[in-house]
Amino acid sequence: MALPGARARGWAAATKMAQRRRHAEDAEGFPSPAPPSSRAALYVHWPYCEKRCSYCNFNKYVPRGVEEAAMRSCLVTEAQTLLGLSGVRRVDSVFFGGGTPSLASPNTVAAVLEAVDQAAHLPADSEVTLEANPTSAPGSRLAAFGAAGINRLSIGLQSLDDKELQLLGRTHSASDALQTLAEARRLFPGRVSVDLMLGLPAQKSGPWLRQLRELLAYCDDHISLYQLTLERGTALFSQVQRGTLPAPDPEVAAEMYQEGRAVLREAGFRQYEVSNFARNGALSTHNWTYWQCGQYLGVGPGAHGRFVPQGAGGHTREARIQTLEPDNWMKEVTLFGHGTRKRVPLGELELLEEVLAMGLRTDVGITHQHWQRFASQLSLWDVFGSSQEVKALLVQGLLLLDHRGLRCSWEGLAVLDSLLLTLLPRLQEAWLQRAPSPGQGG
Ligand code: SF4
Repeated sequence: MALPGARARGWAAATKMAQRRRHAEDAEGFPSPAPPSSRAALYVHWPYCEKRCSYCNFNKYVPRGVEEAAMRSCLVTEAQTLLGLSGVRRVDSVFFGGGTPSLASPNTVAAVLEAVDQAAHLPADSEVTLEANPTSAPGSRLAAFGAAGINRLSIGLQSLDDKELQLLGRTHSASDALQTLAEARRLFPGRVSVDLMLGLPAQKSGPWLRQLRELLAYCDDHISLYQLTLERGTALFSQVQRGTLPAPDPEVAAEMYQEGRAVLREAGFRQYEVSNFARNGALSTHNWTYWQCGQYLGVGPGAHGRFVPQGAGGHTREARIQTLEPDNWMKEVTLFGHGTRKRVPLGELELLEEVLAMGLRTDVGITHQHWQRFASQLSLWDVFGSSQEVKALLVQGLLLLDHRGLRCSWEGLAVLDSLLLTLLPRLQEAWLQRAPSPGQGG
């Protein structure tokens, strides 16, 4: 067996060629359809951070020291166990998220990728993304991650204003972020994404749009815009509660989002999802799997997955959550090979609700063909074609239902949550009224 590092380096070189080829193909049209049951995406959670950001309620820990060898071994073991349990034969994408996975060593990343490739096939053109924080990802580390098999970076830039970065409790400055972005683009050309936040307390639309325009001068082909949500239990939430900071204004945030997406459209970006924008075909195939309700496995503390445990004789897709706390998770992985804390079988209606809510987040929406994969007895026309409330949304130009399928218009994408308040009950009603399929019990 080749050493993980050497194996991954060969794999990384093959990846670069294959990525160039696929990048050109993606630019031509839509990403490939959701994978069948023998395929999946894989998410790996690195739970540690250097410091707590003031707005963050993710599953993250700021430890005194990290037992990286033990964590690496547990991530490898759990990936092997879950891949065996799922019966998945091919992994189309891997995403290292967190926490701050750029704090992990490149050896850990290489070991996980090696284990995935051995337990199931990881093709050379698979998208393999690492979330990187500017201060934990200088150029030399980024290059080492590239050698370990990473071929796409998602940089948590968040703002280009130092005062805002301080407010958010980030460890980097705007100039750190731009430097990391430049290094990342040099090492992973065409495959670097940046996150920008909007809707911060006291943030105004004009200065934020200037930041976005400035970012356009430096960024690569992918941008994600995220609205700040004030989460209970965070430092920012307490400051707003105590009145030391003003509450974010939702109307200002909505204005920023609308103007921001228009600026990105003018700059040649396609808004392919509510929060995600790409040009030159640089869509994230990993996230696309989530929105298309493809299978995905979640490895690491608190990771979520959705797959059919075919390898264990299962036939129903399950929502799975791994144990949250890293030390407990490691104990469970050591004892049982995995740290799955919760398994919830997904009923047919629940799955369809996900297909609807996730699919409509994308500009492509839900094609008839895609819907039929999940609901062979109930077409999109059956569900939505005769509803007066849905007709009203079509007339208002927020929604489209035609020979391609169901999707939001440009205007509709910005108000998706309110559209779902009409669409989800309509789906539930149609599901209850549907004709029983042949062989279905009473
Ligand atoms: S780096 Fe990310 S995960 Fe860690 S505290 Fe900040 S926002 Fe949360």
